[in-house]
Amino acid sequence: MRTEYDATVIGAGLLGCFTARELVRYGLHTIVLEQREDVCTGISRANSAIVYTGCDTKPGTIKTEMCVRANRGFDTLCRELGVRFSRCGSLMICFGPCGLGVLEKKYAQGLENGVQGLRMIGPEETYDLEPNLAPGVRAALYAEGTGTVLPWELGCAAAENAAANGAEFRFCSRVLGISRREGGYTVSTDTENIRTRCVINCAGLFADEVQELLFAPSVRLFPKRGDYYVLDTKAEGFISHVISHEPEDKKKDGGFDKGGDKGLTLVPTVEGNILVGPSNMPTDSKRLGSTERDGFELLDRRISEVMPGLPMRHMIRSFSSLRPNPFQVELAGGEYVRNGKSISNFTIAEPAGDASFLSFIGIKTPGMTCAQELGRYAAEKAAAYLGAKEDPRFDPVRPAPVRTADLSVAERDALIKDRPDYGRIVCRCRGVSEGEMIDAIHSKPGAVTVDGIKRRTGAGGGRCQGGFCSQKVIELLARERRCLPEEIMKDGPGSYILTGGETDA
Ligand SMILES: Cc1cc2nc3c(=O)[nH]c(=O)nc-3n(C[C@H](O)[C@H](O)[C@H](O)COP(=O)(O)OP(=O)(O)OC[C@H]3O[C@@H](n4cnc5c(N)ncnc54)[C@H](O)[C@@H]3O)c2cc1C
Repeated sequence: MRTEYDATVIGAGLLGCFTARELVRYGLHTIVLEQREDVCTGISRANSAIVYTGCDTKPGTIKTEMCVRANRGFDTLCRELGVRFSRCGSLMICFGPCGLGVLEKKYAQGLENGVQGLRMIGPEETYDLEPNLAPGVRAALYAEGTGTVLPWELGCAAAENAAANGAEFRFCSRVLGISRREGGYTVSTDTENIRTRCVINCAGLFADEVQELLFAPSVRLFPKRGDYYVLDTKAEGFISHVISHEPEDKKKDGGFDKGGDKGLTLVPTVEGNILVGPSNMPTDSKRLGSTERDGFELLDRRISEVMPGLPMRHMIRSFSSLRPNPFQVELAGGEYVRNGKSISNFTIAEPAGDASFLSFIGIKTPGMTCAQELGRYAAEKAAAYLGAKEDPRFDPVRPAPVRTADLSVAERDALIKDRPDYGRIVCRCRGVSEGEMIDAIHSKPGAVTVDGIKRRTGAGGGRCQGGFCSQKVIELLARERRCLPEEIMKDGPGSYILTGGETDA
């Protein structure tokens, strides 16, 4: 196994996958080290799925520049990567003077940022576009360029394309140490030492801790939790734009260490679900996944203000995410403490003083929208530092996987003649076939868990939430990976479905 690389990417979330894809564009020998068993198991599997236009952020910042550019290029990117993308447009609504002030500021900001297709609209046009909104809407900022994409679909596609162009992915490889050596670094995981000329730290919520394996603390991450509801496709059509709400009571219940301070966002996803959230609650933990009642109480209150008729009876799932809020830190009384307000711009650190070590610390929204731009930024820096030129053999195209549910009967018939497994439907809610699951397992990097199959194919994401198909998915994973069903996990370390705990198998 190779142990010397030009570039080592730490973390296989959206940023790590896109950074790897951009690094191999320069022909750089690249490895991605990921502590988990698959790509997109961190923040990148749990966000609002919105492709932003760039009207929400301050003019002149790198975040704004990247967002505006990324939004314009998103159709091309998704075509290249075979990823579904809906440019559904968005409405930011308000019910009173405070919200109106914010909308007008964002409108002016958007124009200054060069965002096209922005308009302030009145109540009549707003209700024409979204008739189910609560009465009393004062105005809306309409942005026709806003879109939505499935974050894990985007991340898996970027990873596959990076791998097809030569990037190596090593999973279950947690980075525990980094040291300097002549001409670069040694990055140590639980199992090996990697010698590398450059390091790109894309460790998400843990990017501060990874940087501190070698450098003194400068920026640390203080998470806040965002809870979400997911509504079944039975609610499809209830909204047709991304809707966000600028509340009147924002200042009253705001503040970093308090809950609230956030309006509601509603997103019609490309799979036909409606995403409702996120809350914005304080937390002491960097552990992803747990939802809390206080977050849902906030969402319920906001739903009653914004869209009281939202068919919550179709709620099929809830989940949460964590925002990696970056703060400058300083030494006080022997401890590093938070200093000032949370940094709102993208924090891209070069703690070694050159491009040999680059850290993305605290990349919040719109990090998914900007994942390719951020990856490109890191790769350009690394390539200039290493004297690498673009490799003409790089192929940006990753063919879209087969999605039998999207095919006509004639297309399905033709497909099944060659591969009968595309005719065996395993997930009935989403119409996902055995063949698609087998493709997901054998893609590179491929699915190794039940949730890995879900991220790649959608199986288990429908109304029954895997109640009917999980058993078959476990059998398929075990058969294709040549292991025992007892060894199959739902989603990462310890989540053995059949035994419920650690196994010696
Ligand atoms: C609530 C919420 C909503 C959002 N909504 C949007 C949105 O609508 N639109 C948008 O554009 N952006 C949105 N974002 C931002 C976007 O989701 C993130 O910027 C993006 O997913 C960041 O991905 P990442 O790769 O930095 O982190 P992650 O996906 O968390 O990836 C980091 C990876 O590093 C790995 N790792 C950590 N430590 C180590 C180690 N020591 N060794 C090896 N691996 C390690 C982790 O296991 C993980 O897989 C949202 C974010 C949040 C929190």
